[in-house]
Amino acid sequence: MAMAKPESRPTELPFPAGAPKDLKVSFEFFPPKTEKMAENLWRSITRLAPLQPRFVSVTYGAGGTTRERTHATVVRILKETELTPAAHLTCVNATTDQVDAVARDYWDAGVRHIVALRGDPPEGEQTYSPHPGGYAYAADLVAGLKRIADFDISVAAYPETHPQAKNPQADLDNLKRKLDGGADRAITQYFFGAEPFLRFLDRAGAAGISAPIVPGILPVQNFAQVLKFSEMSGTPVPAWMAGLFEGLDDDPETRKMVAVTAAAEQCRQLHAYGVKEFHFYTLNQADLSYAIAHILGIRPATPATAGSVE
Ligand SMILES: Cc1cc2nc3c(=O)[nH]c(=O)nc-3n(C[C@H](O)[C@H](O)[C@H](O)COP(=O)(O)OP(=O)(O)OC[C@H]3O[C@@H](n4cnc5c(N)ncnc54)[C@H](O)[C@@H]3O)c2cc1C
Repeated sequence: MAMAKPESRPTELPFPAGAPKDLKVSFEFFPPKTEKMAENLWRSITRLAPLQPRFVSVTYGAGGTTRERTHATVVRILKETELTPAAHLTCVNATTDQVDAVARDYWDAGVRHIVALRGDPPEGEQTYSPHPGGYAYAADLVAGLKRIADFDISVAAYPETHPQAKNPQADLDNLKRKLDGGADRAITQYFFGAEPFLRFLDRAGAAGISAPIVPGILPVQNFAQVLKFSEMSGTPVPAWMAGLFEGLDDDPETRKMVAVTAAAEQCRQLHAYGVKEFHFYTLNQADLSYAIAHILGIRPATPATAGSVE
């Protein structure tokens, strides 16, 4: 291929492309199972906290299995940090009274942000069936939470459609029901590249959805695991992703660098189309999300020093 002649090259080619200065981030963690995992989680939270995320959220185990651990983690964040915690809460395996009691406990502890979800079936069960005395779907949970208190509520959205939805339009109608019912924003399932999200924004806008939709960003460190999870969650994995991780099965260091580069590029592309907020699935590992946020121009808040002028 012939190289462009020097005189035909642009005279200015800023590098690196300017870092956006107007971004907001949030980080998602899962509750730890062991003391060692708790230490790791706490290290991650401490590392990411100076980036001043809008909130940090803590998941609720499939089948509602982590009720106590989620609660303990959320309350510890509230008590020991300046962060705003968001507690995930699901409908699975619980009556409405039980779910309401968890929500009331959160409110009484000072937690104001709930990520309201239907939830996935307990391990070993393939299909979801609502608890006979429980909330059937996330939209019902949103309504229940609003009856309890004026929570700030996030709900889930699926740019590439939830696998159990009747069709994409029914899934979008469901999202609108959740938002119209009192949810404040949607956070999406992860996706690759920028296109699935941008197309989804267009469809959501056409359906009359005006609430913020925040893209969920998954820095992919373990490609084999993501392939498995994506099959279950119905998230298409493009061929270029496989290409990016080709030959790196035994090379975790390079995989990390590739993960950061790919996710930072994804965020930059989304930002170029006006997206200003990102939710990172950290998997309790701070380093990848920290590096991506850094590339995006986010810097730790410098603590005010004694005698400094406001
Ligand atoms: C940001 C985010 C965080 C998550 N955190 C957790 C977590 O902490 N714990 C966990 O277990 N899971 C979590 N999940 C996964 C989530 O629980 C699953 O994807 C679950 O299968 C769907 O939850 P939902 O809240 O989207 O459900 P819903 O909004 O209730 O929708 C579920 C499905 O049912 C369909 N549907 C809705 N209403 C009706 C109706 N009335 N009749 C027929 N069909 C209907 C929808 O189209 C969709 O296909 C999370 C997902 C995301 C995107």
